[in-house]
Amino acid sequence: MAYDYIIVGGGPAGCVLANRLSADPSLKILLLEAGGGDWNPLFRMPAGFARMTKGVASWGWSTTPQKHLDGRVVSFTQAKIIGGGSSINAQLYTRGNAKDYDAWASDAGCKGWSYREVLPYFIKSEDNQRLVNAYHGYGGPMGVSYPINPPPISFAFLRAAQELGIPFNDDFNGAAQAGIGHYQLSTRNAERSSASSAFLKPIRGRKNLTVRLNAQVVKVEVEKGRAVGVTVARGNEMETLRADREVIVSCGAIGSPSLLQRSGIGPADALRSVGVSVVHDLPWVGANLQDHLDLYVIAECTGDHTYDRVARLHRTVWAGVQYLLFKTGPVTSTLFETGGFWYADKEARSPDIQFHLGLGTGIEAGVAHMKNPGVTLNSAFLRPRSRGTVRLASADPKAAPLIDPNYWADPYDRACAFKGLGLAREILRQPAMKRFVLAERMPGDNVKTEEELAQYAYRSCKTDYHPVGTCAMGAGPEAVVMPDLRLRGIEGLRVVDASVMPFLPSCNTAAPTFMVAEKAADMILGKPPLEAAKV
Ligand SMILES: Cc1cc2nc3c(=O)[nH]c(=O)nc-3n(C[C@H](O)[C@H](O)[C@H](O)COP(=O)(O)OP(=O)(O)OC[C@H]3O[C@@H](n4cnc5c(N)ncnc54)[C@H](O)[C@@H]3O)c2cc1C
Repeated sequence: MAYDYIIVGGGPAGCVLANRLSADPSLKILLLEAGGGDWNPLFRMPAGFARMTKGVASWGWSTTPQKHLDGRVVSFTQAKIIGGGSSINAQLYTRGNAKDYDAWASDAGCKGWSYREVLPYFIKSEDNQRLVNAYHGYGGPMGVSYPINPPPISFAFLRAAQELGIPFNDDFNGAAQAGIGHYQLSTRNAERSSASSAFLKPIRGRKNLTVRLNAQVVKVEVEKGRAVGVTVARGNEMETLRADREVIVSCGAIGSPSLLQRSGIGPADALRSVGVSVVHDLPWVGANLQDHLDLYVIAECTGDHTYDRVARLHRTVWAGVQYLLFKTGPVTSTLFETGGFWYADKEARSPDIQFHLGLGTGIEAGVAHMKNPGVTLNSAFLRPRSRGTVRLASADPKAAPLIDPNYWADPYDRACAFKGLGLAREILRQPAMKRFVLAERMPGDNVKTEEELAQYAYRSCKTDYHPVGTCAMGAGPEAVVMPDLRLRGIEGLRVVDASVMPFLPSCNTAAPTFMVAEKAADMILGKPPLEAAKV
């Protein structure tokens, strides 16, 4: 059977496209997702996130040894499930800074992608439970709401940051990004609003949309310079499916460059070195990898102020019951609900540090549990200058790709990261935290010198899971896709996902990915762009 469009990858981008393209009943759409379904109730529970970074529904990847992190291998969870990252992420809904998108347009030549032009596409997806104004709307598929019941320690954190001179901000996605506050979350009625639940479930009955799970695409088929379909692995069998109009690759910033390279589209030398025949030499496929690296402070609390208290079995059971019966309690929390944006470099054009207050310790993979309840404050440098790569380890589709974010290759990134960590330590030492915080435990008061900090960072740094840029759009020779997201040099092939972002936005990357896909859908359908916002 032939389809009009085959979408490869059912993450945020793939689900948005499946919804928007299949709204035209004359089109036959196929969505292929390598992972399985999101039937497990943990995917719906906001706090279910805590279980997800530890390998459930993920590809199980790690980085290559990081040269500038003393050889550290960093665990690099990427989703393998319908809904992609939006089914397992912390549900923080942040859009970044207006200047991020203006730089896409002015510095990368992405015509049509300035802030005023992309803002209507953020709003198109949005069903904001509280805000309606020039920046927000309601009625879109994706629920956006504020935390339901943040515990007192998170309000103390807000006060502490203000004591340090960081102003309160009630809407990081509004007129100004800088400041400290509660995040908006992609949740609705105390449930995760994932790409799957928001964009696929409501259209389950559409006859012109086929969704196939556990279907890993191993190759994009190209004939005479045109993508004509894909080959899917079904156990040991291979099946080729045809697309009459386009193949759309939406496998994420690691998956998309991997699939393209496996299909012979990428840097010729790298392809040959792993035995892949070159179909189209495109050197920048898999280059330009950017990611947010996170450093954190862990403090021991004076009492049961965070959700560490729920870790004991009887309390976990009670929290589950409370959630199922009343939709209240710890399970309604995404565990990272409070934070903000501030400056490491005072000359920076917009905030370059993001804080996430973690309501406990050991929330994420690689972060050790403490004996007593604790609180975590993450800080990430937002606009890294380092650039890395995604390359194939072998032609075997089962082999993990070589993910090299090349963290801290540029010393500016390291310097800003240390400033961010310093700010995080300072916030937790402010008077407002005294009632809640006993003492800093990590890095710990004895870690002071640059070398001591570096050793701590090498041991404990983690990714914020925000890879982008590996199939970057633009107008110059480094672009993999053009501003309409068509792949340069091959007909009938687009890339639509986080990989096309030329520069990493100064925020978590799900909302920008939804925006990219909303805009792409209009371009694919030949619709005129939404009218630019007047902000
Ligand atoms: C643990 C974690 C926490 C995060 N927290 C946040 C957060 O709180 N807020 C936020 O804004 N962002 C967060 N992010 C980032 C955000 O989720 C991603 O930016 C976003 O999901 C990117 O969407 P995507 O569509 O580009 O790719 P993905 O979400 O990676 O989806 C790609 C999909 O394609 C599938 N796929 C890959 N290869 C193939 C293939 N060959 N064949 C078929 N299918 C394939 C994958 O299985 C996956 O489901 C987090 C990410 C992770 C992993």
